[in-house]
Amino acid sequence: MSIPHESYTVLARKWRPQTFAQVIGQEHVTTTLQNAITQGRLGQGYLFIGTRGVGKTTIARILAKALNCLSAAEPTPTPCGTCANCIAIRDGACLDVMEIDGASNRGIEEIRRLRDSVAIAPVSARYKVYIIDEVHMLTKEAFNALLKTLEEPPPHVKFFFATTEPHKIPATILSRVQKHELRRVAWDALVAYLEKVAAAEGVTVERGALGVIARAGDGSVRDTLSVFDQVLALAAETITEAEVTALLGWTERETYFALHHALVAEDVAGALAIVQHVIERGRDPEQFILGLLDFLRSMLVVQHVTNPETVLEETAESLRALQDAAQRYTHEQLLYSMDVLLETLPRLAATEAKQTALELALLKIVRARRRVSLDSMLERLQALDGAATAVQPVLGEAPAAYQPARPAQPAAPAVVSPAAAAPAAIPPAAAAAPAAVPAVKVAPTAPAGPHGDATLAAAWKAWLAGVATADAKLHALIAAVMVADGGPDTLRMLVPHDAEMTWQSLAQKKTRERLGAEISRHVGRPVALEIVREQPPSTATAPLTRDDLVQRAKQEPLVQKALEIFGGEIIDVQE
Ligand SMILES: [Zn+2]
Repeated sequence: MSIPHESYTVLARKWRPQTFAQVIGQEHVTTTLQNAITQGRLGQGYLFIGTRGVGKTTIARILAKALNCLSAAEPTPTPCGTCANCIAIRDGACLDVMEIDGASNRGIEEIRRLRDSVAIAPVSARYKVYIIDEVHMLTKEAFNALLKTLEEPPPHVKFFFATTEPHKIPATILSRVQKHELRRVAWDALVAYLEKVAAAEGVTVERGALGVIARAGDGSVRDTLSVFDQVLALAAETITEAEVTALLGWTERETYFALHHALVAEDVAGALAIVQHVIERGRDPEQFILGLLDFLRSMLVVQHVTNPETVLEETAESLRALQDAAQRYTHEQLLYSMDVLLETLPRLAATEAKQTALELALLKIVRARRRVSLDSMLERLQALDGAATAVQPVLGEAPAAYQPARPAQPAAPAVVSPAAAAPAAIPPAAAAAPAAVPAVKVAPTAPAGPHGDATLAAAWKAWLAGVATADAKLHALIAAVMVADGGPDTLRMLVPHDAEMTWQSLAQKKTRERLGAEISRHVGRPVALEIVREQPPSTATAPLTRDDLVQRAKQEPLVQKALEIFGGEIIDVQE
């Protein structure tokens, strides 16, 4: 953002703090300095560390006034601001307070001249004060020359250094100064300050607009006031959030919320229309993406941080809206979406087709809405499983001797009931059928049981159809199981070799009890279940690649069902 120099000086100079009390957001420094003055414990060298515009040189100047104010016989924590010294220092006209820009006076010659002048007594002030801004810019030789002075400074001399990069200052210098770290000014402190400035300047500014200005200031009082200067140039009766946002070339929060609604509705046309709107209004695509990233990051923060107001620069109202919006995303979806946007940023810079790049990113994010990680899917299924097994069985009991076999032992099919049905009892066609077919095989066996014309397998099929709507989770779990009558009161179930989840689930007594109870109730008499695991094909010995895993997961009936229930695609499989 470019800041016109004229407007820059106006508010920043007019509102430059003249006392410690006027400094915004650096109480930890100003209080310490005031206490040191009161107690007569002032050091000879001070280093103020902080990012641009947080008040480093401002505090150094106030400290210079505190030392030299004529309203008191000694240094005072509250310089008057009206005596000759205070005014001269304020106007940069005091011969004894020298401000040196370290960036343009970085050589040994400049520092030697400084060293020579140090010896000369102050003209009108108590102390000679050297304020060196961006002190880290000095050359090595200049630092060495400065060090000699710092080692044995005359009692009437004080050095105040300011820097944004303290790590570039030699340790020998650092060890001879008191260090004070200034903070990035908090957003709400900047908003409160802007409210005061707006009232004093006699302008009406929407609170939301002040929030945007403070956000643009990015922790710097000076930058915040510079943006406010630009805003005041709008000369509107009431300055609105929309005007300020447009002035900055930013995109309004409402646009991001509208985009959010389109994304969660998987409304591609809606999302593209918003992009079109943004481009038509001349918004910079890069700024738009940065804003969207910030929006998604805010949702990530409200998902994970107990007191998001301490991290986010948001009003209470906007925080609530973010919290509502964040509920519509999983952690993975937010991370993936942010990844997509971060990858898009360098692409935008490299292409003329900026709108297309932007649209592509949004399409990916819409698709990501449909992505569900296998982990989270299984977690949700397992949660449902917990609910399902809470149902008490009414009738029947599954075979007590049932033992699940590990799928890695393909030599013999795992069996199962006290009746110990041989795997051969399973129709060969069923056993050889592709395990992925999520349909129930009904064996053509003779009618059995009191219902005469109904086989148990047919009864299972009828019951299973009802389960599909009544208990989607249970249905997903058992849909791929092939069944056959194993006798008048026994239902034989063949679990496909690759249906590991189904196998593991059926290994749980509760699941078997429930199944037995349900099918028994459906048939009207106790039915025993024989559960057999299908042999894996002998070819499945090669090491699995990630693609194999994804393919296998896709064939897993449970996963298929889950994808159907939740809607999604497989993005990763963990062994
Ligand atoms: Zn004074």
